[in-house]
Amino acid sequence: MRDLLEIEHLRTYFKTEDGVVKAVDDVGLHVRQGETVCIVGESGSGKSITAMSIMGLIEGPAGKVNSGHIWFDGQDLLSFNKNELRAVRGNEIAMIFQEPMSSLNPVLTIGQQLIEPLIEHQKMNKKLAKKRAIELIGEVGISRAEQIFTSYSHELSGGMLQRIMIAIAISCRPKLLIADEPTTALDVTIQAQILDLLRKFKADSQMSILLITHDLGVVAEMADYVVVMYAGKVVEEGEVVELFQNPQHPYTRGLLKSKPVINQRQDELYSIPGQVPNPLELKESCYFHDRCEHCMAICRTQEPVLKNVANGQKVACWLYEEAVIHV
Ligand code: SF4
Repeated sequence: MRDLLEIEHLRTYFKTEDGVVKAVDDVGLHVRQGETVCIVGESGSGKSITAMSIMGLIEGPAGKVNSGHIWFDGQDLLSFNKNELRAVRGNEIAMIFQEPMSSLNPVLTIGQQLIEPLIEHQKMNKKLAKKRAIELIGEVGISRAEQIFTSYSHELSGGMLQRIMIAIAISCRPKLLIADEPTTALDVTIQAQILDLLRKFKADSQMSILLITHDLGVVAEMADYVVVMYAGKVVEEGEVVELFQNPQHPYTRGLLKSKPVINQRQDELYSIPGQVPNPLELKESCYFHDRCEHCMAICRTQEPVLKNVANGQKVACWLYEEAVIHV
């Protein structure tokens, strides 16, 4: 499979009154055609900012993609002007967000919002766009499609709204769908239905999915490949089965340990001790060192780089450097 998306050395920084926040710092990742890659990590790990950087949604003057490349289908999105980006966004790359209610326009009908990308990107006339929009509402599993077409977002449930977001996202048959916590605001039954829907459209169209989540259950169900981020950096990545069976980085191990296990009595759920570091106080080091039970002297003063370890996994951790004296 060829790479559809390849991110190299991406750095997205925000200037604040108190200093520069390196929200995404030297991040690289690949998404192959037809593959689902999950980015996982706690809040503040840089997952969503990575997605927004791909979509060209980092707006100055405070936020800026400082350097790097975002290759999509052989072209560097960071070299695109606004019009070129607009032609790709919503067409070849689509995005769905956590909160469908705030992503939809409350003063436009569902139908008006569905036909817009069809007219803009697919060059359909209004009549054809309406017909296709009603088909799309049915394809995402909503009955009474004609009635929903004329409804407003406040008239629909959260699950229906997220289905509408998916309908809008897939309307132009994108090559890449970026889904940022698409099921977090939904109850578990609806969550399972939305994940099924994403899997179905992926299987039907060979679309690639970049799924951002903090939910390891969602990762296990959806991912082919997993990228673990912490404090703006990739700390581990690998095929989903390998990563779940044999996590290498202490942070990944902590994340997996904090997941409840079915049929196993647990008086208390494990949680990784400590907090994500303040992004304004990061110094040259492993950013996880304050929370890591394996921390060594070198971890406090030098940053480990991502390197290949067993089973094709890549890990940024001094434990895997042979030259380091593990004390
Ligand atoms: Fe822990 Fe050191 Fe590895 Fe960081 S580099 S995860 S502090 S052992």
